[in-house]
Formats: sequence, structure tokens, C-alpha cells
Amino acid sequence: MSSLPADCPLPRYNQKRVPGVYVSYPFCAQKCTYCNFASGVYPAAVELQYRDALQGEIRAHRWDWRPETVYLGGGTPSALAAGDWRSLLGEIPGRPWLEATMEAAPGSITAEKARAWAECGINRVSLGVQSFVETEIRRTGRKHTAQTVAEEMRILGEAGIANCNIDLIAGLSGQTAASWRESLEWIERLAPAHVSVYMLEVDGDSRLGKEMLAGGARYGAAETPGGDATADFYEAAVERLDALGIARYEISNFARPGCQSRHNLKYWKLEPYTGFGADAHSFDGHSRRRNPESVEAYLQGQDAETSPAHIEEERFFVGLRLMAGVCPEPDEWRRFAAPIRRFLHTGLLETAGGVLRLTSRGVLLSNEVFQEFLLS
Ligand code: SF4
Repeated sequence: MSSLPADCPLPRYNQKRVPGVYVSYPFCAQKCTYCNFASGVYPAAVELQYRDALQGEIRAHRWDWRPETVYLGGGTPSALAAGDWRSLLGEIPGRPWLEATMEAAPGSITAEKARAWAECGINRVSLGVQSFVETEIRRTGRKHTAQTVAEEMRILGEAGIANCNIDLIAGLSGQTAASWRESLEWIERLAPAHVSVYMLEVDGDSRLGKEMLAGGARYGAAETPGGDATADFYEAAVERLDALGIARYEISNFARPGCQSRHNLKYWKLEPYTGFGADAHSFDGHSRRRNPESVEAYLQGQDAETSPAHIEEERFFVGLRLMAGVCPEPDEWRRFAAPIRRFLHTGLLETAGGVLRLTSRGVLLSNEVFQEFLLS
């Protein structure tokens, strides 16, 4: 599938569509209050069993191809012993990978670990910082401080891993315009290559979200700033990061020139990837495959689910997440004429030179926009 019409002005790269690899390590030391991922706290024996099953799955794969990118996500993959990653990554061909990311919880990085990661091909670390303000961090259930993050970035740099992402969440309990500024000031001080800014998701899948929906006060639920303030914080981050030369390239992702996440771009560009581990997804350009969601089901060897991909809808749904936008084909302009016209009129979409993209306001209301393209 070609994602760009011949005359599309959007940048072309990875024309060979080399797939990436995602490895899931869904274990955490504690469950953060805002977290709605399929991750959890398990006995050490289960982690051990999982590591062996994961190794078996990666080894059994038919490696007649070499991945371009590797992403170790979770959970907290940084908590697994470096020697275990060495043997797991030893099963994956293609080293040195163009990009190999380790997701890390601040407070879990030592000089030995960082060196060992670099030796086994990791060249990018994504730090789940969420906030640099201590009261906010504590309420999430995390234990690091701003100094921990600064020290660990120094350690990573010394080990040769200078390419770091920092995750921030707008809308955490106790957050104010001043405390949000403080977190952004730390970004300026630490100068990471990449920043992800998420707006707090209020849903029943996290303890905090459930408490907020129920109108309770646990986990600081009564002191969350609310939707409008959260959107203001997000907008303030867009402005501040842009002034620092860290430009938004996807709704939640910002990077210095040339530092966009090559692996995550595969998801938004509908490029292929293969996932290993519980709840890992794969996409081969035509169909999607999802491994069993829970650790238990994965360890029991339950089958993965396969479903056809709906490329035309997905192309808009995920492609519009990119600030560069999408280049609709002539029949797509016709098929989606009504919602496109409406969103151009209401200022949520803009178009120029055959490209269709979200406006700044459209980014804040993106779910509303995407919905229409799914239903058309
Ligand atoms: S946010 Fe990350 S570290 Fe916290 S519970 Fe979720 S997956 Fe684990």
C-alpha cells in the first residue's frame, strides 16, 4: 500500500517500508494512579516465566527480515536485568538498529545498566517523568524527583545514549499554571531531544480516572485541574517547546529536527511492525494481529487474534494525528467531502497544496474530527 499519492508534497522516507519490532514488558513496581495500560504488579516468579515465554516467542519467529527499529515498551522494561535484555535482544537480527528505544521509569537507571543497554544496541531512552513537581509526582504513585531525572540523563549521556524522550502529563492532580511552567522549565534545563505531552485521560481504566468519574477525592481526584485548564497547559507546552526548537510533529509528540521517533512514526504512517509479548500488536500492511491481552492468557499460550486492517479509514484516523497531515487521494476527497467541508468551515481542518491537516484548534478536538472519518 502506498500512503502518498504521486504528486503529494509530504516528505517521503522509509520508502522500502522496513518493519519495526515492539517488545512488551508489562510489569511495574507499582501501578501509577493515572495508568490505564495493560500493565501490573506481579510476583517475581511470573516475571521469570514471562521472560522465558517472550524469549521463546521471539526465537520461534521466522526471521527472514531485519527490523529497522526496536521499541521495548511496558510496563517498565528498564526494571528487567540488563543481562536478560541482552539475551532477548540477541534473538533479534539487524543490529545496529536505526533506532532502539527502552522505556524507563526514572529511578531505575544505573551507570552499569545504561552501559549494558548501549552495548546491546539501545540508542534511545524514553523516560516516564510525567511531572517535575514533587507533590504531583507523589500523587501519581511514582517516587522520583527532578534531580533523579537530571542525574539519570547525565548517566545515559555518559553511556552514549544522548537521545532521550521525556513524557509529561497535563492535568495531573494539584497541577497549576505555575507548577506546569516549572515542569517546562526543567525541559529547558535538561534539553531532551524529544518530549511527549499527554493530556490526562479520564476513564474507568485507571484508579484516578475511576475516582474522578465517581466524584471522589482519593488519589487527589478532587484537585485535578479540569478539562479547560488541562487544554491551556497543553497549549502552553506547545508554545514553550516550539520556542525551544522542539516542534510538535504529532498530537502528543514534539522533537528537535531529525529526532522524531522513527518507530512510532511507523504507527502513524501505517508502516509494518511486529509485536512480541502480552497485548503486543502486529501489522503487516493488510491485517492486524493482537497477542493475548493479559499476562496470564499469554503465559497459557492462548492464540493471537487476527483481523483485517481498514486501511482507508485508518489512513485518515492515524495520519491526521501528524501535524504534516495527509494527502487524500481524489476518491477520498469525494468520499469524505461532507466532513472535510464542515471541518474546514469550523476551523478544525485546513488544506493547502493537496494536503489536509488539523489546525491548532482541531488538535484539541481531534477525537471529534477522527470520529467523522470513521463513520463516513
Ligand atoms: S504508567 Fe508506566 S510505570 Fe506506571 S503503572 Fe503504567 S505502565 Fe507502569
